[in-house]
Amino acid sequence: MILNFALSRFDVREYITTACHVFRLKPMNPATHSKLIDRFGRHIDYIRISITDRCDFRCIYCMSEEMTFLPRAQILTLEEIFALAQVFVELGVKKIRITGGEPLVRRGALGLIHQLGKLQGLKELVMTTNGSQLDKTATSLKSAGVKRLNISLDTLDPDKFKQITRIGDLTQVLKGIQAAREAGFKRLKINAVILKNQNHEEVADLVAFAVEQGLDISFIEEMPLGAVGDHDRAEAYYSSDAIKADLAGLFNLLPTTESTGGPSKYFRVAGTETRVGLISPHSHNFCSTCNRVRLTVEGRLLLCLGNEHSVDLKRVLRANPGDSEPLKKAIVAGMAIKPERHEFDLTDKPLIFRHMSVTGG
Ligand code: SAM
Ligand code: SF4
Repeated sequence: MILNFALSRFDVREYITTACHVFRLKPMNPATHSKLIDRFGRHIDYIRISITDRCDFRCIYCMSEEMTFLPRAQILTLEEIFALAQVFVELGVKKIRITGGEPLVRRGALGLIHQLGKLQGLKELVMTTNGSQLDKTATSLKSAGVKRLNISLDTLDPDKFKQITRIGDLTQVLKGIQAAREAGFKRLKINAVILKNQNHEEVADLVAFAVEQGLDISFIEEMPLGAVGDHDRAEAYYSSDAIKADLAGLFNLLPTTESTGGPSKYFRVAGTETRVGLISPHSHNFCSTCNRVRLTVEGRLLLCLGNEHSVDLKRVLRANPGDSEPLKKAIVAGMAIKPERHEFDLTDKPLIFRHMSVTGG
């Protein structure tokens, strides 16, 4: 109801003024700040866009072995993704992360990324990838204006890599990381999901690898998103605190207030350039500073990673060809339903049925 009310009555400026009044926020100048502010005063200036739900891997924590992917008619075209991205930037979004699924398996992805790289007002275009296609694409991504890459790498053991990704080839990903460095990407970051009894004994090796290669690394606690077959999430849970304890005796980790605008808490490995991030959705809530929303490849605007609140932007987009105003109203009004926080419970069946690949991790 709030949403309908907002859609019918408000324009962007009125919404901001009213939100400030109702929620006793400091009034803002809509010309200089993001026009996307939620009920809790959080400014949304970052969007993660999943450009495909498909992937060339089947990581055990992310997908089941047999996956049914979305039919083509249900997903946004590349032109529609660009149109939506443009509207978000006009509303004050400064950072776009391209993700998936594996973004680089979508045909035409590079063309879209080149176009996004030219968007006026966008400060940072970044991408999360499994690295499998980077040996062929790193140079193009760099010239398209992609600023930084996060590359997923959960283990340095080729057999374990195959076991965790079900399909992936470690050598290919290492080649991709090398190609990205040669293409001139700075501050490459490794993302590693740590699973008890699968790769938890490798956290020190992964940090040593990051130091040796001059990379940053973030360790991620697994989140209960989507059904993933036999994999037992409660059993595989390995907390950030445990990771920190494992590293403490081996590396001198200096707390730092540095941030990449993400939910990681960062430490610097003393005497090196490497930062170690801990992403802890279970043990430490990162919701109070949340500045992001997500767009699924079906055109659903997700207001929170761990809740189902969403707005169907594909419907609005297709109903109003060539007119971005209804979209802007829908997006601004959507801020009113952004939840305060998520709650993840590993002991229950997943409450969130969409996979991370659909969500846009
Ligand atoms: N395919 C790309 C990749 O793997 O980097 C981009 C999409 S993937 C969904 C983005 C990130 O989400 C990866 O770092 C992956 O490890 C992480 N991820 C996937 N499923 C997850 C889960 N259930 N819990 C925590 N992280 C997850
Ligand atoms: Fe694919 Fe990334 Fe999910 Fe692994 S984590 S299955 S690479 S989308």
